[in-house]
Amino acid sequence: MNAPETMHPAPPQLHPQPRPEVMKIAAYVGGEGKLEGVNRVIKLSSNEGAFGPPPGAVAAYTKVASEIFRYPDGASTALRAAIGRRHGLDPTRIVCGTGSDELIGHLCHIYGGAGTDILMSMHGFTMYQIAGTYAGSRVIKVPERNLTTDVDALLANVTEATRIVFVANPNNPTGSLLPQAEMERLRAGLRADILLVIDAAYAEYVEAADYDPGVKLVDAGENTVMLRTFSKIYGLGGMRVGWAYAPAGAIDALNRVRGVFNVNIAAQAAAVAALAEPGWVEKGREHNARARARLSAALERAGIKVWPSHGNFFLADFATPARAAAADAALRARGLIVRAMGAYDLPHCLRITVGTDEECGLVAEALTAFMAAQKDG
Ligand SMILES: *Cc1c(COP(=O)(O)O)cnc(C)c1O
Repeated sequence: MNAPETMHPAPPQLHPQPRPEVMKIAAYVGGEGKLEGVNRVIKLSSNEGAFGPPPGAVAAYTKVASEIFRYPDGASTALRAAIGRRHGLDPTRIVCGTGSDELIGHLCHIYGGAGTDILMSMHGFTMYQIAGTYAGSRVIKVPERNLTTDVDALLANVTEATRIVFVANPNNPTGSLLPQAEMERLRAGLRADILLVIDAAYAEYVEAADYDPGVKLVDAGENTVMLRTFSKIYGLGGMRVGWAYAPAGAIDALNRVRGVFNVNIAAQAAAVAALAEPGWVEKGREHNARARARLSAALERAGIKVWPSHGNFFLADFATPARAAAADAALRARGLIVRAMGAYDLPHCLRITVGTDEECGLVAEALTAFMAAQKDG
């Protein structure tokens, strides 16, 4: 039987059409790692940690090679137990993911969707916008104050449609931090049915006394999730391992929708070993604090404004997009790759990852020469 005329059949399409919101997403552009015609490239564009992977993680990765025909433990049991031991957390309240990016995506689909709003701050981590839009939510970017998340502005933008608030603490790319009292004020000002996601990808680098990565607020209720990653201080970005510490309800939902074997066998082995590497986190944190302070001071002496940061990166502010682009070119000419910030609406800034002392020295040298040439020119 033919369909009746009144059913208004969809116009014929020549090929399958993505949902319209998919085409609104600007694809994520990662930090570059190659330069044409430069032998030694120093990649300071993805906050990957200054010291490469922990030696024990490399050994564990190598050792598991003969096992890679096996499916991994889909529940990441040993890894969750190791994370639990390290952080004093109940492993049943942990879910591991293919990087914390996977978990960001699932949270948006679980709690967001058509007709809902997701809040993030103006210069917050781009993945929230990508994942939230893909889920069908409207993603609202809320103004910041002094490149720092503004709790009052977030609260002022809450509506009946709000389902999730994402805060990276410290934030990438700005490096700014919300003290625990501010985070608690945010939680207290949000309705109970709004999920607060505290993304603490850089928690291990923080030295501020009034900081909590999110554990306290997760424990205090049923509506806060903390996200962590092995991609930064643990030096395992290429392995793709992140985790959530969450209330039972969110754990249950995440376990229903995540990739069944989302963390592969080598990634689980490497992450367990990384947690066991003696002194690794302490070494990374101490180096970072010292090297970040020294490089920041060198750039300020050269006349570049540096935004204070609690992560293993910071924003160098060149005042104009043109000067930032010229500085980027001067760095590239010496094989130094940092991150341009146009995609974050900060085109006058470059985000510089804190590398080894030698790498930081090369950045300082290049930018000091660049600024001197600006004055002469
Ligand atoms: C790097 C980063 C992540 C981690 O992503 P992975 O998928 O775990 O590699 C999450 N959030 C922020 C803010 C980051 O900068």
